[in-house]
Amino acid sequence: MNINIFRRKRKIIVPVLTEEKAKETLVRCQSCGNLIEYEDLRKNLKVCPYCGYHFRMTVSERINLIADSGTFSEIDTEIKAVDMLGFKDLLTYKERIKQTKKETGLDCAVITGKAKIGGFNAAVGVFAFEFIGGSLGSATGEKLTKLIEYAKKHKLPLIIVFSSGGERIHEGIYSLMQVAKIIQAVDSFKESGRLFMPVLTNPSYCGAAAIAMTGSIVIAEKGSLIGVSGPRITREVANKNIPGKLKQAESLLQNGFLDTVVDRHLLKTTIAQFLKHYNRRTI
Ligand SMILES: [Zn+2]
Repeated sequence: MNINIFRRKRKIIVPVLTEEKAKETLVRCQSCGNLIEYEDLRKNLKVCPYCGYHFRMTVSERINLIADSGTFSEIDTEIKAVDMLGFKDLLTYKERIKQTKKETGLDCAVITGKAKIGGFNAAVGVFAFEFIGGSLGSATGEKLTKLIEYAKKHKLPLIIVFSSGGERIHEGIYSLMQVAKIIQAVDSFKESGRLFMPVLTNPSYCGAAAIAMTGSIVIAEKGSLIGVSGPRITREVANKNIPGKLKQAESLLQNGFLDTVVDRHLLKTTIAQFLKHYNRRTI
């Protein structure tokens, strides 16, 4: 079987909308097909005003969405993606990192730090899908592990917002081992009695889904696709179409994998409510 995922022409259905590219443009909703003024979409938190489809957010938009204004302070900014295997697809991995950094201004697929959410302190990690599909490379894994240790040390609840295509193929086994490393750190964190509250957004695949399922309270954003792999990979490997709704958050909620599924407009309030109850319990 020849699955050449690098040379295939990709049809990008929903581009990540950077401010520069998207200003004064019309965006077509992938779900209902309606055209929306980008500015209207942005004001509506990138939720389609016609059908409620949740467009993907950038990491900075996501931090602005959940953190109280001006309260987010980043940690571990020195940890950056590096090429350990000399991997090459259409570009060398080094070139891909350089190009992605130029396009996004990011060094890694996750940003971590401390913030207030609805007035409550929390350790916060947010995936950046715009950095190589939010894939879980070794720098991503290291930053998340250090965030979990930071939360444990400072006795903070831990919120991680996932948006990830899975492991980073460019880093091979170094990428895969991050899942075990992070889950071990989460176990130790939870044993200390602290709250781990993952938020799954579209998409959250493979390691991201596995890590999130260890959460104390697992939240997902409406319509998010969650699972081992995306429909495209499943189709090409298994030569079979898996019904899209099977991997949607709403289906996972029905089958007991999630605690709640929320509309983006209610996400911050929902997190804050859980933090409020958690704080009462720990006082
Ligand atoms: Zn729509």
